[in-house]
This record gives sequence, C-alpha cells and structure tokens, in this order.
Amino acid sequence: MHESINTYLREVLKESSADVSGKLAAYIPRLRDADEHLQALALATADGQECSAGDDEHLFTIQSISKPFVYALALDDIGLDRVRELVGMEPSGEAFNELSLEGGTGRPLNPMINAGAIATHHLVDHTSHEEHPGGRQSDSRTSEVRSRTTRILDGMSAFAGRPLEIDWDAAEEEYSTAYRNMAIAHMLKSHGSLETEPDEAVRGYIDQCSILVTVKDIARMAATLANNGINPENGQRVVSAESARTTLGIMATCGMYDASGRWLTQIGIPAKSGISGGIIGVLPGQVGIASFAPRLNEEGSSVQGVAMFQHLSNELSLHLMSNE
Ligand code: GLU
Repeated sequence: MHESINTYLREVLKESSADVSGKLAAYIPRLRDADEHLQALALATADGQECSAGDDEHLFTIQSISKPFVYALALDDIGLDRVRELVGMEPSGEAFNELSLEGGTGRPLNPMINAGAIATHHLVDHTSHEEHPGGRQSDSRTSEVRSRTTRILDGMSAFAGRPLEIDWDAAEEEYSTAYRNMAIAHMLKSHGSLETEPDEAVRGYIDQCSILVTVKDIARMAATLANNGINPENGQRVVSAESARTTLGIMATCGMYDASGRWLTQIGIPAKSGISGGIIGVLPGQVGIASFAPRLNEEGSSVQGVAMFQHLSNELSLHLMSNE
C-alpha cells in the first residue's frame, strides 16, 4: 500500500512543480539562499503510518509552523482561561506581522499572528525546566529565555518523536533584523499583554522559529494533533486532547493569515504555513499532512505547497465540509 501512496505523492509533487511563481523570503540570508527547487510532501496517519516523497530529509527552520504547537503547550501549561486573558481567538484578516491589537481588550487577536505568537511564547511555563539547549547561545540570552526555549524545544521534540535542534545562525540573523517583532513586543508590553521584557520575548520567539525540521517531522507533529495530542509513533501523550482540539480550532480559523477564509473554503483542512516554505494540515482523527517548497505567494505561504494541498483535498476528498 505504501508504494502506491508514495507514487501518488511523487505525482502530486510533479504536478505542483509546474508553478514557479512566487518569491523566496528575502529578509535573512538563511531564507534568501534556500534552494528554490526543493520540494517535499509527507503524510502521517493518526494510527502511525507514514509516507513521504521528494526532499523529505531536507532540514529547514520551522518558523510560523511552530505557533500552533507552542500554543498547545501554553494551553497545557497554564490552561485556556489564563491564555485567553492575554491572547484572543478571532481571525485578524491582516498580515502576519501587523501591529494591531483587539479593540476593547488590547489583546493580540489570535496566536497565529506574530503579536499573538510572541505573547503565547512567553506564557509557556519555563519554571520547571533547566536551561540546557546546546549549541551556541549568545550571552545576551537571560536564564529565563534559555529555560523557556528548553521547555519549547523539549515539547516540540515530543510532538516530533525525536530530539530537534535549533539553527543558532538563523536565529542570530533573524534577531539582528527583528525590528518589527521588537515593535510588536513593545506594543504588547505597553498594553499589559506581556509580563516579561520585550527583548526577552522576541529573543525566545525567534529561537522557537529557528528549530530545524524535515517535512516528515512536521507531518508527525501534525499527526500528534490529529491523534488528540498523543504521538502516534511512540504513544507518548504530548498535550491534552482538549489542548489539541482548541489548537485545531484556531488553525482552522486563523492558520493561513489573511487567506484563512479562502483556504478553509477551498481546501477545507485546518492548516498553518511558515515563511521558510512549509505548510502543515491536520484532519482530526485521520492524518497530519506536510508540504515544503520555498517560493511564497503574497500572503507568505508556499505557492507549490498550496497547490499540493489543493490536489490532496480534491483527489482524496479531504475537505472537512464535504461528505463525498
Ligand atoms: N520568524 C518569522 C517572523 O516572526 C516567522 C514568520 C512566518 O513564518 O510567517 O517574522
């Protein structure tokens, strides 16, 4: 059975490779210098079967695909009520890095835009975690940043079922140009949505975005959400079923930034994209899907990845709202 699925995945890659529109993210060398011909697709089912095609061993920084997983960790650590005090649950209809907050409450609108993700990052409970991530951590990281990064790296590794690592060079590049995310963090701080220093929140958020993954890793991470928070490969519970469900609700409504409505209507799979070219999709109880191809459309999602998901949705009848 696996061989026929692999053949099918290779066909989907081939068909979606025709579209060479879009551009690489250019704001840091690590992303600007990516090989734009790379392409990969992976599936991981909620009962532990996996298959993949293309450049499925290629490592890339997870970027915004980290956001739903860190949200799930924060929900597990401190509970939905406490998270909701500081981060809302409504689609923004705006770009991922918009400097905007919810009228009335002053919270970021949701955890999938940068404002909400930076606030969510700092809600993860770091107190019981030693500061250990290896690699080169610059001395400017405080002990709070290091222990929170440890908690997040451990949590993301549990989602993936293997020890993940951080690309410290990519993190350094991003931190040295993080003016907009700093502005967002200062805005959060001035509205009382950040209990730590803005610089610490951004530093840790960037470390979170710089975790290295393959398309197979993120398919398995997605499958863990599909499987009520239990990693299907090793049976380990990573987050509660309730945290996984809440996270999927947010992905469905807010995961594709200002294209979230169109995505849910046309493709019908709760999803999250990242600026390095990855997209994950989750069908609850069924499967985690992951694509990778670095050229991006105007909204910052992978052009070929969107095409791959459209193929899968149509041909395998995966649209959530369809009963065919
Ligand atoms: N590290 C990027 C940022 O915060 C992630 C953006 C994305 O993947 O959409 O600007």
